[in-house]
Amino acid sequence: MKALVLERKGELQIRELTLPTSVGLKDVRIAIHTVGVCGSDVHYYTHGRIGDFVVEQPLVLGHEGSGIVVEVGAGVEELRVGDRVCMEPGIPDLSSRASKLGIYNVDPAVSFWATPPVHGILAPEVVHPAAFTYRLPDNVSFAEGAMVEPFAVGMQAAARARITPGDTAVVIGAGTIGIMIALAALAGGCSNVIITDVSTEKLAIAGRYQGVVPVNVREEDLEARVQATVGRWGVDVVFEASGNAQAFGDVFKVVRPGGAIVLVGLPPSEVAFDVSKAIAKEVRIETVFRYANVFDRALALIASGKVDLRPLVTETYAFDDAVAAFVRAAEGRPADVKLQIVIGDTGGA
Ligand SMILES: [Zn+2]
Repeated sequence: MKALVLERKGELQIRELTLPTSVGLKDVRIAIHTVGVCGSDVHYYTHGRIGDFVVEQPLVLGHEGSGIVVEVGAGVEELRVGDRVCMEPGIPDLSSRASKLGIYNVDPAVSFWATPPVHGILAPEVVHPAAFTYRLPDNVSFAEGAMVEPFAVGMQAAARARITPGDTAVVIGAGTIGIMIALAALAGGCSNVIITDVSTEKLAIAGRYQGVVPVNVREEDLEARVQATVGRWGVDVVFEASGNAQAFGDVFKVVRPGGAIVLVGLPPSEVAFDVSKAIAKEVRIETVFRYANVFDRALALIASGKVDLRPLVTETYAFDDAVAAFVRAAEGRPADVKLQIVIGDTGGA
């Protein structure tokens, strides 16, 4: 089948490639409809590696997908041919200790789409375990279905924060994931969320959502703004979604005593962290690695209308133009939140 293949760093093309098509007892075969371009896909394209994961052989990119079930394994009961679905891209070892604990996202044996050497889904079809395939409610489009994966990171962050109704929060970084966190935090009970960035364009997009207060930290002091909004006490939760070393100095200034700091952004190298300040406020520190057990909840929120991800799809490309989508994503235009690629035009929304 024809797939979008990263041959090596900087070299992408659509070409014929043999990918697995045999459906196991508990698998489904899915005709891919829409795939979102993720920062990690782009990073493999531009740098050829993320940490210890190095592109050493041709790799199919893409892990944020939706599609239609075209074949079900004999042991699959929950899904049928024709179901519109989205997929969780990580497949853990279900008998692992992590899986048994419900934290399958940190199973060391997890195999994750578009992470070398595991192929992604920018291809016409994929075979996937039914257990990690979720039926889309009728009012959720393929485009929204392909947004569930990045939104799941926001859901995980909100869950890790243990939000109480009426909590206040700061999200540092208004990139795609920062916006996802803000929306999940609001849906999870936050009364309002201050989101910070240095990009006017990104803040304008985030600020279109009710309850999201954009603050440009190039022009305004975050601490002063937090005090003006919630008082000297500070916010209940600070989500760090920028990975910027400087942000780690700000978090303790704006979190309330006994509040939570949730680390989501990956700093490119080690960062300084003021332990005394964290201890003085007895801050609870949480980390987020992908997500576990949130896809169904994310879909329920989208279907209910409580979370609207549609405005975040900036542009949609045809599969034939997939390379152009990646070239644009690599430019990192500030007003681009999510670029998507439509593979099969199977009709329907
Ligand atoms: Zn992603």
